[in-house]
Amino acid sequence: MTRQFTQNGLTVPYIAAWSSEKTVSPLVERREAKGGPCLAYRDESPYDRDMWGALWIRQAIGRGKGRANFAAVHALRQRQAMIRLLCQVCGTDILAQSPERQLFVLKDTGQPVTEGETTTAPPLCLPCALVSVRDCPHLRTGHVAAWVGRPQVWGVAGVVYDPTTLRPVSPPANRPTAEIAYDDPAIRWTLAARHVNVLHDVTPVQLSDLVAEAGQPAPGRTADHP
Ligand SMILES: [Zn+2]
Repeated sequence: MTRQFTQNGLTVPYIAAWSSEKTVSPLVERREAKGGPCLAYRDESPYDRDMWGALWIRQAIGRGKGRANFAAVHALRQRQAMIRLLCQVCGTDILAQSPERQLFVLKDTGQPVTEGETTTAPPLCLPCALVSVRDCPHLRTGHVAAWVGRPQVWGVAGVVYDPTTLRPVSPPANRPTAEIAYDDPAIRWTLAARHVNVLHDVTPVQLSDLVAEAGQPAPGRTADHP
């Protein structure tokens, strides 16, 4: 069971970053590797790459130390939650709980969750989904939800470096990072900050309908803060 932390009466999500979890920026270099040149850290260790070979940002691990930043995401916990399908709030193994399909809740961008959509948001268990749409800074302005039968590994979100100058290339307009698939050659020059899944076998749902099916009362502020 993953330990839960609260701050100001709110549950701190498993993937939220804490003030002690600083990121560092090691020096990068161009390295001749199997399959061609790639971006690398000068003092790279085996922990700096994921199992598909992508280079990741370095971020300290100190969950529960300092203050939680609800709007910030810890890179390693986000990656674990995406790959193993853990609830992003309580860390529960959702794949074990619900092997057929998992619940994804995304920020409302004016359309339902669509087949083949990519996302950096890990799944949620239903109780955490209900709390998140009320309290999460990313979701409380509006959300869409779906059952997803096949969430699959797709790539990363991060910053692409120029192979010649080794300087970051500007991300696409209005986006802090670029999404790069693992089969895209640009993955070799990408410094990853988030794991990206692609959602297949998507069935949009209303959380209120799931609550009715499950026979659970919707969480209210009065219940949490008597
Ligand atoms: Zn949960």
